[in-house]
Amino acid sequence: MATDSWINETLYPDWGQRFLVKRELARAQSEFQDIVLFESFSHGRVMVLDGVIQITERDEFVYQEMLAHVPLLAHGAAKRVLIIGAGDGGVLRRVLQHSTVEKAVMVEIDGEVIRLCKEHLADIAGDAWTNPRGEVIVGDGIDYVRRAADASFDVIIVDSTDPIGVGEVLFTDEFYQNTARILTAQGIVVNQCGVPFMQADELRETSIRRAKFFQEVSAYVAAVPTYVGGFMTLGWSAKGTGMRAVPAAEIRARAEQAGILGLTRYWSPEIHASCFHLPPYIAENLDQA
Ligand code: SAM
Repeated sequence: MATDSWINETLYPDWGQRFLVKRELARAQSEFQDIVLFESFSHGRVMVLDGVIQITERDEFVYQEMLAHVPLLAHGAAKRVLIIGAGDGGVLRRVLQHSTVEKAVMVEIDGEVIRLCKEHLADIAGDAWTNPRGEVIVGDGIDYVRRAADASFDVIIVDSTDPIGVGEVLFTDEFYQNTARILTAQGIVVNQCGVPFMQADELRETSIRRAKFFQEVSAYVAAVPTYVGGFMTLGWSAKGTGMRAVPAAEIRARAEQAGILGLTRYWSPEIHASCFHLPPYIAENLDQA
């Protein structure tokens, strides 16, 4: 359908971005959320859930690379990875690029998101959907972590929507307590923690919760153009200490061994080593943790 209409993000009532729509690709009301996929003039194909920009073809690499490579390379020996959400498949693809990962389980609540992303955003996941080391489960992440066995994953990546609607359960004590239980001794959880310039409470509140169950709680930053408001934060919760301080040279060696060096356009060993250094306006939200 050719149109010169705009799509306005409705994340914030008094501020936001808009995209000039080249053509709408799909629109569905799933059991969980309103899903829109469209072709933009500026950012390639875009997916919107409940009015919030989730991913664009043009800048998805920033977020997916930082959500996947940072915890895996900081850990250094992750073999089993759990991914919650991430219905577009981008995080699964990046995790499976690590030849050192033996198994990646992805639990996405909305099968419609997966179906529509396979159809309209196929490049984001690439061949991850059929990789034998990957397992894709359609289900609620909170249910999965409740039932998962103790010490069954080395890294957990929570690529959820914001803590409203179906994503809300992924920001609770129960969720974090279960992730701590199902992680191995040096396990790490990273989670989408919003843009502190506009959503500081998301970082502050989850940090307080995460501190109840993890030895080290912090965050790291990534500059994702379409998560408007400056730095996006990824929550960091670890059962061990010191994994944020691995020098760039060691990170580079690990990346070489994992086979991901040279495959990235935002992540680099130096970006990795520096992303944990937070501007004061962001760090202040971690003080209570
Ligand atoms: N990168 C995006 C961001 O930062 O906002 C998130 C992308 S991804 C599309 C978010 C996914 O989380 C959605 O597909 C949504 O269906 C999924 N999700 C939300 N709540 C969930 C839950 N309780 N269990 C599993 N997946 C969930």
